[in-house]
Amino acid sequence: TASLEELTDWLARFQALVVENQAYLTELDSAIGDADHGSNMARGMNTVELKLGSPATIDALFKTAGMTLVSSVGGASGPLYGTFFLRIGTTAGAVTELDGAALAAALRAGFAGVLARGNAEPGDKTMVDAMGPALDALDAGLGSGSSIAAAASAAADAAAAGRDATEPLVARKGRASYLGDRSAGHLDPGATSTAFLFRALADALG
Ligand code: ADP
Ligand code: MG
Ligand code: MG
Repeated sequence: TASLEELTDWLARFQALVVENQAYLTELDSAIGDADHGSNMARGMNTVELKLGSPATIDALFKTAGMTLVSSVGGASGPLYGTFFLRIGTTAGAVTELDGAALAAALRAGFAGVLARGNAEPGDKTMVDAMGPALDALDAGLGSGSSIAAAASAAADAAAAGRDATEPLVARKGRASYLGDRSAGHLDPGATSTAFLFRALADALG
């Protein structure tokens, strides 16, 4: 199972990774965007950590995280990550632990929220290209009887591979799409932060 404590630790580890890699995420966004993805994510996750307090249930944890990102991050990434966490919370419900299937269902609902909000498809060079493969790997791992920790580790590897696969793509959503063909040859910043998101999950559950 994944406990409230482990999922709280997930958010703390994600905050630490985006803060540690803030300059790198901004450098990636300076190549194909407006050079603010690192500062957007660091400010957003720092604010989440300040606002969290001690939620009693998993839905409260992710509701606070999601609402904070939606309201504190101006860029495209704030509402998208915010929606991801909000949907995880509503799907998980007022519980203090999730079994593997319930965790996967909550994350899948979060991903559906990202797709609905951003309208991106796989291959558009966005965070979707890391999130989709990660969730497929999580499902495959759990479906074949792996532990949650092992399945989350496979999901982190798949997110990293999805991030790497964004490099040659031409962006079709977000600011990078304004560059047209010139967006090719660079990693997508949002797919890179999503790879940190799943690394953080694997570390929290491992
Ligand atoms: P902004 O582009 O508003 O400055 P950020 O720089 O914080 O916002 O985030 C950019 C990232 O957001 C992109 O690298 C991409 O992964 C993601 N993104 C942008 N638009 C979309 C979308 N419509 N659907 C999914 N992800 C998107
Ligand atoms: Mg940007
Ligand atoms: Mg911006």
